[in-house]
Amino acid sequence: MAKRLVIANWKMNGSLALADEMVAGFAAQSNVDVIVVPPAVFVSRLIERAQGSFEVGLQDVSQFDNGAHTGDVSASMAADLGATAAIVGHSERRDEHGESDAVIAAKALKALAAGLMPVICVGESLAERESHQAEARVRAQIEAQIDCLALSGDIAIAYEPLWAIGTGKSASAAEAVAMLKEIRKVLREVAADRADQIRILYGGSVNGENIAGLFSHEEIQGVLVGGASLDTEQFAAIIRAAEKAGPV
Ligand code: PEP
Repeated sequence: MAKRLVIANWKMNGSLALADEMVAGFAAQSNVDVIVVPPAVFVSRLIERAQGSFEVGLQDVSQFDNGAHTGDVSASMAADLGATAAIVGHSERRDEHGESDAVIAAKALKALAAGLMPVICVGESLAERESHQAEARVRAQIEAQIDCLALSGDIAIAYEPLWAIGTGKSASAAEAVAMLKEIRKVLREVAADRADQIRILYGGSVNGENIAGLFSHEEIQGVLVGGASLDTEQFAAIIRAAEKAGPV
């Protein structure tokens, strides 16, 4: 059995005040792993103040070790600070920064090598879903991670359909579960020996109201929460729901 995993992705939001509010309002639950992922500039503050009550991650890491890459942060720098995870391949990075599956695979490898858990985001656009390409798109995104999947070290996959991110329109539990089952199937094909140890999360307009329905399905082993994670009370409700739902 694995603990459910709840990840807060602040995106380019938040402040030192929110970091402190998150720490003050945090109530750890024994059956839930929580990772808060603020903008990189707030990572140190959260790590220092959280004192291990929750983990802290990065929203992205470089595909390089170091050097002339202005604005980038390497996985080993993040690990040095005490971060434990890195989101890679978020659709906003894919869209706004033109990140390809190959670049994302390189980033996931750097994260793993530095001892961070890569949280690899996959998901289809609305056009891909409507043209029945969703499964093929997600399969290709996972197959691109084959080198990373061949290594040991904790990895999570977050299924985030683009049409559900930040739109207030979550995928239905049935839609999410169907794709999560498909992802598990692909993992078993490409990484048979460790496929069942990889936690698969859902992300896309998760909030305090729809979380119980999502967590009533054992396939949803965790959630990646954007907007609702900025509201400390709502985020706490999501963590409580994970505890109530129990391990998977
Ligand atoms: C996300 O950014 O990963 C996300 C799922 O955002 P939201 O919850 O706001 O849809």
